[in-house]
Amino acid sequence: MSSPDVGELEEQFVVRAMRSGWIAPLGPDVDAFERELAARVGVQHAVALSSGTAAIHLGLLGLGVKPGDIVITSTMTFAATANAITYTGAAPFFIDSEFDTGNMSPALLRQALTQLVGAGERVAAIVPVDLLGKAVNYTEICAIADEFNVPVLADAAESLGATHQGRAVGSFGQASIVSFNGNKIMTTSGGGMLLTDDESLATRTRYLATQARQPAVHYEHTDIGYNYRMSNLLAALGRAQLSRLDEMIARRRAMRERYRELFATVPGVEIFGGANDDGDNFWLTSIIVDTAVTGWIPSALSAALLDENIESRPLWKPMHLQPVFRGARTLISGASQTLFETGLTLPSGSALSDGEVHRVMSALQDFVGGTRW
Ligand SMILES: *Cc1c(COP(=O)(O)O)cnc(C)c1O
Repeated sequence: MSSPDVGELEEQFVVRAMRSGWIAPLGPDVDAFERELAARVGVQHAVALSSGTAAIHLGLLGLGVKPGDIVITSTMTFAATANAITYTGAAPFFIDSEFDTGNMSPALLRQALTQLVGAGERVAAIVPVDLLGKAVNYTEICAIADEFNVPVLADAAESLGATHQGRAVGSFGQASIVSFNGNKIMTTSGGGMLLTDDESLATRTRYLATQARQPAVHYEHTDIGYNYRMSNLLAALGRAQLSRLDEMIARRRAMRERYRELFATVPGVEIFGGANDDGDNFWLTSIIVDTAVTGWIPSALSAALLDENIESRPLWKPMHLQPVFRGARTLISGASQTLFETGLTLPSGSALSDGEVHRVMSALQDFVGGTRW
């Protein structure tokens, strides 16, 4: 669906880093990668970490989230968001989605904040999530957060390269995090980054990510720290990938166009979030299936693709439906559950060869053309 897109350039960067002798979770490639990504996104500070999950965890700690607090997030997300909230001892509060993008509904956010703050509860942070590469409505979400004086940590794990009203994601809220996991728009094989204009938050994050060592030769410790820094070798890989980000986005965009053309003649199938994909990074392309019109369900298409050894997947199963978060507090409209039940994510990776793209399109064509019952 989205396999790593790496080649000779990445190999050159990694070999050069290895030969430089900086085989540690610090070094010139880490520093340069942080500077380059901060410049790309337009923020003052970036801290390279071992994963996006680690970045959410430290970002929340840096914003002062503590046990017993409430952190509001989107129910339509990957478990990493909610897991990281749980690591801090805070309780996730899940908000449902807007139907057209799957992103956090600003109206529901306002409703939840009104209730919680009205009841005297402490909401320590809001973590909106840019689903599948489409930016949250930051204008509205950040305005509501400001009104209630709650900081925003944006989970932009899926949306690096995307924009909201012309401004790069990663630059909204008090801080943002991105992920470089193997399946994301660009990869360091595993890694993440915290992005912020807040110097003290960046400093605190860097400190907590390196075992909270106070500057003393014997390592004095006054806080519990973590081992969350990115290795210099992986930062080198990231620098090569960053130089190719726009090219990789362009390939994913082209893939979406192919799907758009193919499904334009298939009643009951919409490209998810596709009506207005200005600013999208096209990380993953999904379809939403109106079963009453198509006569087939998404899992039937998925099975037909699997017969051809082609991967597809439902959208994220919402967190409020996950057994591990049973009992979590929520404000639910049903939109995310409908998206989960009617959506299917299709192969979207920039590493797909022209031959593979052709094979995917043929398999889809066979299914929608031949098997309409
Ligand atoms: C991938 C992802 C993460 C976690 O990133 P890792 O680098 O894999 O830890 C967090 N949130 C969302 C929405 C993601 O898709």
